[in-house]
Amino acid sequence: MKAYFSKTIEEVMKEFNVSKGGISESQVKSHREKYGYNELAEVKKKSVFRVFLDQFKDLLVIILLIAAIVSMTTGSTESTIVIFAVIVLNAILGTVQHVKAEQSLNSLKALSSPIAKVIRDNQKHEILSKDVVPGDILVLEAGDYVPADGRIIENYSLQVNESSLTGESESVIKTSETILKDEVALGDQKNMVFSGSLVTYGRALVIVTNTGMNTEIGKIASLIETTKEKKTPLQVSLDNFGKKLATIILIISVIIFLLNMYRGVNILDSLMFAVALAVAAIPEALSSIVTIVLAIGTQKMAHENAIVKQLKAVESLGCVSIICSDKTGTLTQNKMKVRKIYTDDKIFNFDEFDLNNKIQNFLMNSSILCNDSSVENGTEIGDPTEVALVNLGKNYSLDELDIRKSYPRISEIPFDSDRKLMSTSHEVDGKYIMLTKGALDVLLPRIKYIATSEGISEFTSKDKILIENVNRGFSENGLRVLAFAYKEIKKDHILSLDDENEYTFLGLISMIDPPREESTKAVEDCINAGIKPIMITGDHKITASAIAKQIGILKSGDEALEGTELDKLSDEELKNKVENVSVYARVSPEHKIRIVRAWQEKGKVVAMTGDGVNDAPALKQADIGIAMGITGTEVSKDASSMILADDNFATIVKSVANGRNVYTNIKNSIKFLLSGNTAAILAVIYTSLASLPIPFAPVHLLFINLLTDSLPAIAIGLEKPKNDLLKEKPRNINAPILSKNFLKKILSEGILIAIFTMLAFHIGLKSGSAGVASTMAFSTLCLGRLFHGFNCRGDKSIFKIGVFSNIYSWIAFGIGLVLLNLVLILEPLKNLFEISSLNSTQFGYIYLLAVLPTIIIQVYKIIFKQDSASDSKEISVGENA
Ligand code: ATP
Repeated sequence: MKAYFSKTIEEVMKEFNVSKGGISESQVKSHREKYGYNELAEVKKKSVFRVFLDQFKDLLVIILLIAAIVSMTTGSTESTIVIFAVIVLNAILGTVQHVKAEQSLNSLKALSSPIAKVIRDNQKHEILSKDVVPGDILVLEAGDYVPADGRIIENYSLQVNESSLTGESESVIKTSETILKDEVALGDQKNMVFSGSLVTYGRALVIVTNTGMNTEIGKIASLIETTKEKKTPLQVSLDNFGKKLATIILIISVIIFLLNMYRGVNILDSLMFAVALAVAAIPEALSSIVTIVLAIGTQKMAHENAIVKQLKAVESLGCVSIICSDKTGTLTQNKMKVRKIYTDDKIFNFDEFDLNNKIQNFLMNSSILCNDSSVENGTEIGDPTEVALVNLGKNYSLDELDIRKSYPRISEIPFDSDRKLMSTSHEVDGKYIMLTKGALDVLLPRIKYIATSEGISEFTSKDKILIENVNRGFSENGLRVLAFAYKEIKKDHILSLDDENEYTFLGLISMIDPPREESTKAVEDCINAGIKPIMITGDHKITASAIAKQIGILKSGDEALEGTELDKLSDEELKNKVENVSVYARVSPEHKIRIVRAWQEKGKVVAMTGDGVNDAPALKQADIGIAMGITGTEVSKDASSMILADDNFATIVKSVANGRNVYTNIKNSIKFLLSGNTAAILAVIYTSLASLPIPFAPVHLLFINLLTDSLPAIAIGLEKPKNDLLKEKPRNINAPILSKNFLKKILSEGILIAIFTMLAFHIGLKSGSAGVASTMAFSTLCLGRLFHGFNCRGDKSIFKIGVFSNIYSWIAFGIGLVLLNLVLILEPLKNLFEISSLNSTQFGYIYLLAVLPTIIIQVYKIIFKQDSASDSKEISVGENA
């Protein structure tokens, strides 16, 4: 059988029984049944059981097993049962959390899965790449990933980077010509495109020949690993902290064990002390709480149109100090409308076109012919700049499809944002004409003649000055200006970049693209939050500056810089200048990388938006690369860490607020968990040093750590963003979360709870037995930590934060309270959890001593923390000190 590259287009089309209008839905169905989904087989994921087993590879489990064995030897079978139950419960919780986190990541991934454009039943559709079937007609454009292997049937200067397949980093120029050979290396199959390669230029129609594992990449790729979410910097630093803590605690445990032995305490009791200490200290919930809070944060952001692709991004978002944003569509509405026109020495309104005037008529037709967009039954398809031109024609009852049928396109050089031009060629009244539209400053140096009502004349410097003045006038009003020019070419000449010169100037068409309503407020929020918003645009400097002024990005004293000016600056000079520049105009994607680097060298955390095929390197270089969900290319989405589903600048600012909130919440959860653990550690150390009985059995601490503490920690993680979140400077990304100041707070709050816990222990010892004392210490610690959950909701007093503003914290408190009381009251549970019976006075003491630390902390906050001081502010002060 002949290979597809050596078959004619007709042969391939016939084989799949398809026309250029695409296959029908019923064909899609039958092809899907025959060939399956367009997916590469993945390595099987870990089974839930495997995940469950993995939970036992934990230091905590080893310590617990020691505790279980010690309990068994001391004849305490109930304790042994409870400890084993706790080990299993811990593993189940770990498994559930793992599976949940995976599900939430998968659902986020699904939101950002790749899209393919196909023609089916004569209509263009956007579908998931995995739904592409052999026989589909694919539409490929610059910035797309090729979703399947296929034969090119219509080619418009297509260039494809096939490095993932051939290793060749240069783009390959494609053709639709049949290759009359039997065997051709993959890299030379110029009329084929292959799955996984990237369209860098031009466009094409392609008939899909192979999908999924039958594609070239499928044949060579071994099974792909499902991408594993790497740990975020926060998780890594907490893991490291956990490891250090474990080592220190093990050493202290051994010392305590030896000390007790030395003092003549029997070996089992000494061991129990040491084990209790270890159990008290290991913050087993820490890492999972961070994952849960991050995962919940990303879900919330997804609802608010920001799809975070990496958990890491949520953390960095809170530190963003520079937001570099595209103008068109992100700060503006991308709903262009033609306003003023200039041709033949006249400026007139969009509704004053005179189609009987030869030049005006030609300009109008050019704007429709050198144009890929269309408006069908009110549905706008294509680039809004071009749609505006089609709509202009509609005002005069001109149908773009009719005009394009009368003057068919012979060849084209597609628009690209580096070149800022687009050219097409047509046969017009027996002549062959090349039409070009684009940025005036790019087109102007290529103009040789000018069309006027008196005929074609030489383009003089006077003409040039006049046109530049008109352009300035349009731009100062925030209008986006397109220049039009043409020239005659030879019959059937296929256009190339060398043709883009020696033009005859035709005219200017300007259009308005109003700022988004929410942009001004978002820019203001940004500035208040210590974040510098910067506009980076391909548009003209004067237009960009006018819009930037309107929305508050360009303030007096700020500068606007053009790409050509930027080219003249060395990296060092740019670095010195960068703080004063708020607008970069006429930039190409390479400039974006330099701007990001300059800021990063100043130690700033930079978020950068991008949508084009060449934006990928800048998106990767930025700390947070942000792609546009609506107008962005697949490549830019792939390279970014976040996708804006609504392309809106305001959404970025909202995400920064969310990022800050998630970080603050995680920090508060950590404070809650670690201060509670500190209290337990201090109590064990104190009793051991003071030769008192052991205050907690390991089951007590497990009960607190695994049951009553987890819910308040999660509830703290769900705390809503506070109003003043965007009134503070961004957090320093290098500042450790566990700063000295933060650890001091944890220690002081831990000491406070420990003091009252030990008071309860002493009261228990006085009024009853060692068992009663232990029960009172456990209950006070447990309840004290539950109350402490309210303190950890924020830095200010609970009355300032809002007593009932986080309902989850009340639910968590309620559940903890019920669980504790069940254990204290129900006989079977009392046995299991080594609880002694308490009288009502002892109950009263527990409640009083448990609530006192919280009252003290709240009074302290009311006195000292009523102003805008908040956690993050304080920490940065502490860290700088
Ligand atoms: P941003 O980078 O903010 O999205 P932009 O959309 O204005 O800005 P580009 O799309 O790169 O940036 O456009 C740069 C310039 O190229 C425009 O100012 C305009 O003069 C010209 N231009 C834009 N679209 C087209 C097009 N479809 N055909 C020809 N020229 C165009």
